Amino acid sequence: MAILIFFVLHWYISLFFQSFFMHRYAAHGHFTMSRGWERFFYICSFLSQGSSYISPTTYGLMHRIHHAHTDKALDPHSPHNEPNIFLLLWDTRNYYFNLWIGKMQADEKYHKDLPRWETFDRFTHNYKMRLLWVAIYFAFYFFFATSWWLWLLFPLTIIMGSLHGIAVNWWAHKFGYENFSLNNTSKNILPVDLLFVGEAYHNNHHKHPGRPNNAVRWFEWDLTYNITKLLDRAGIVRIKPAVVTFR
Ligand SMILES: [Zn+2]
Ligand SMILES: [Zn+2]
Repeated sequence: MAILIFFVLHWYISLFFQSFFMHRYAAHGHFTMSRGWERFFYICSFLSQGSSYISPTTYGLMHRIHHAHTDKALDPHSPHNEPNIFLLLWDTRNYYFNLWIGKMQADEKYHKDLPRWETFDRFTHNYKMRLLWVAIYFAFYFFFATSWWLWLLFPLTIIMGSLHGIAVNWWAHKFGYENFSLNNTSKNILPVDLLFVGEAYHNNHHKHPGRPNNAVRWFEWDLTYNITKLLDRAGIVRIKPAVVTFR
């Protein structure tokens, strides 16, 4: 039972920080926050993503390039440029890594207002740290797994961030419904998004990438946006006025 609870919490908490901090704040700048809160959420992203942590700065860069070149040759991850899901994952990993080590340079325009914390990323973003996380997860499974089949979740725990990546980068550009006819393949993968904290509405998001609320139709509901609104009310973030008028 402890393993199942952990797995579900890990899924939602790590996805929330990916959606709230890395996607909507770092890549799209839907809202602002103080330097202190930025560092706090940077740390939350690392702690929740653990062994699959990627840098919010590099993620932001890669995601901006995805929006600029969706489904075209320069898209870092389009299922329409890849023969299968494994190659999509592998090529996305290589693209990210080349940006991270500086082997590949993104155009200057993609760097604007990205959160950066290089000393923190140097400390957290390396194979020793990933192995330490795997050891911590292993100890947890070792002490709390009461049936053999619970160990099937262990590899998924290690690659949690990649699972979320598959959902949006592959599934949401392949299967689902469209509210808007766009010149790309983005889809809304679930009408009622109880699994992806609002990221399921990817067709809506590609239509309005500057809009903090991904929900458009009456049955759609964006959890991350609603939590962001609460954080705005609490004075922790400020949803940008120009963007607020859009919701
Ligand atoms: Zn997309
Ligand atoms: Zn986006």
